[in-house]
Amino acid sequence: MTAHVTLPVLTEWLAGFHRRVVDQERLLTELDSAIGDADHGSNMVRGMTAVMDKVQAAPPATVDALLKSVGMTLVSSVGGASGPLYGTFFLRMGTNAGAVAELDAAALGAALRAGLEGVVQRGKPELGDKTMYDALAPALDAYDAAVGAGKPIAEAAADAAAAAAKGRDSTRDLVARKGRASYLGERSAGHLDPGSASAAMLMEALAEAVASS
Ligand code: ADP
Ligand code: MG
Repeated sequence: MTAHVTLPVLTEWLAGFHRRVVDQERLLTELDSAIGDADHGSNMVRGMTAVMDKVQAAPPATVDALLKSVGMTLVSSVGGASGPLYGTFFLRMGTNAGAVAELDAAALGAALRAGLEGVVQRGKPELGDKTMYDALAPALDAYDAAVGAGKPIAEAAADAAAAAAKGRDSTRDLVARKGRASYLGERSAGHLDPGSASAAMLMEALAEAVASS
């Protein structure tokens, strides 16, 4: 276990996210067919497949190059709300991280936080709007709390993944106030938000990548 997240670990994070959206494409599709247009699974698989193809063809040499390339690939390959939102998340993460070879616990937290701020600027989600923000925001709060308490990155990332899963589950009873699902009004309640489900996979993949590093 390491005190730093290196480029190979970040690449393994992306690979783990790719594996999850591929393995659980049908779940994401089903969630989005209940309260959206049934494309969240295919959107995430297309986007993350393009990301992995690009990263493997030409592995970037710095953290910012890697994360910015991920963001640009997602923006350009994914139609729908989630492409620009996840794309902005990774672009802002990269800008915050800078041209370094690795991130310590605090730097990773700051980069994730900058990514989340990008999502907020783009989509204007608030807690309880039934979006990916409901998984990401508590995850980053848990990460920061863990790092603040002196826990190593692996434990902080595990706490973040647990908080993201809880946040995802909290979306079930919510009425959507952002995105396509908001068109359904009260009828959106009773279903998990698809973007919160993919966001929980993103945090789970991070926890797995840092735990095995
Ligand atoms: P689309 O809604 O265009 O079909 P996707 O189905 O791929 O795109 O993604 C839908 C997900 O995007 C939602 O489940 C939600 O989590 C997220 N989302 C949509 N609009 C917003 C927003 N304004 N802010 C944050 N997240 C949003
Ligand atoms: Mg959709």
